[in-house]
Amino acid sequence: MYFNAVAPPIMQTSNFVFKTVEEMRNAFKDEYSTYLYSRGLNPTVDMLRKKLAALDEAEDCLVFNSGAAAIFAAVLANVKCGDHIVSVSQPYSWAQKTFDVILARFNITTTYVDGSDIVNFEKAIRPNTTIIYLESPNSWDYALQDLQAAALLAKKYNIITICDNSYCTPLYQKPILSGIDLVLQSATKYIGGHSDTVAGVLSGSSAMITRIFNSEYMNIGSGIQPFNAWLLLRGLRTLPARMDRISETALKVIKFLQSGSDVEKVIYPFDESFNQFALAKKQMKGAGGLLTFIIKAATLQQVETFCNSLQHILMAVSWGGYESLIIPKAAGMSAETFNANIPEHRMIRLYVGLEEAGYIIDDLQQAFNKMKTAGN
Ligand SMILES: *Cc1c(COP(=O)(O)O)cnc(C)c1O
Repeated sequence: MYFNAVAPPIMQTSNFVFKTVEEMRNAFKDEYSTYLYSRGLNPTVDMLRKKLAALDEAEDCLVFNSGAAAIFAAVLANVKCGDHIVSVSQPYSWAQKTFDVILARFNITTTYVDGSDIVNFEKAIRPNTTIIYLESPNSWDYALQDLQAAALLAKKYNIITICDNSYCTPLYQKPILSGIDLVLQSATKYIGGHSDTVAGVLSGSSAMITRIFNSEYMNIGSGIQPFNAWLLLRGLRTLPARMDRISETALKVIKFLQSGSDVEKVIYPFDESFNQFALAKKQMKGAGGLLTFIIKAATLQQVETFCNSLQHILMAVSWGGYESLIIPKAAGMSAETFNANIPEHRMIRLYVGLEEAGYIIDDLQQAFNKMKTAGN
């Protein structure tokens, strides 16, 4: 506690004072041991780091200015020229761009595998494989990987495992306890929780995190700033309450979507119809507010009419805030390539926020009605 304040202070400072040359010399020797300059350690960021590492049940963690920076640091720290990565297919788009665009320039190659069967990872391993990259569930169709099995496999071959845990947060899944080496999440989503901060968390062993601090973290220079760290500290206080509320509302919205005639299928890891439901129940405690449904639209125009007609649910990327959001898969493709016969093209990703279930359901219902009157 500082000055008996209930809420923690924001240490908005770039640098720190030393009283003696000896103290300064020691700080230069080991910047991870003391406050020197806020590209390294900062007290407000440290408060956040302690809480986030505890949530992940990890020895240590670093907080970045984005989830993408956390991914980049974790990956870069574990490859050199000529190495090979095995990644689950369709990881987060900027993870894939790190592999395919940036690392490819250094002759580091990546093999993408269907992560539903662990054998696929083993088959892809080469003598120069240094990373198995996982994202479970992913953020569109929620495909899972068996984290315990992946960690065991990687240990056998002396390969580092990295898992993107953005969908679950550490409240609903703790990959470190399954043996995963490095776990990351976009704190922009549920940890921030108010759609006002971009941030990322990377957790792991002390040895690994210390090594990343002294190299990638300091070099990339994308550590979180004190004010943003403070916003995440604030978000953390209500995280469990928000997650409970959002999960409960999501189940009501799913029931509504499944009961009508406008939706072909709902995809949600904690729904019995989910094709990896047993694995989801085994390794996750909850599934939160992100779900996908396949809308029964005959044309692109119908998909667009549905989305454009929503009055309360906002059309925007990301998730984890207080407001419900929607993204149609069709927004990511050209009108010419849209084919209503392909269910994936009719996917709508819905994030259920903190509103009342009835408020969200009424909005969806009136948009379904407008879609139908839009005709074919
Ligand atoms: C949003 C997201 C990221 C990237 O996080 P940013 O904070 O946007 O940089 C990484 N992985 C997943 C699964 C995400 O949804």
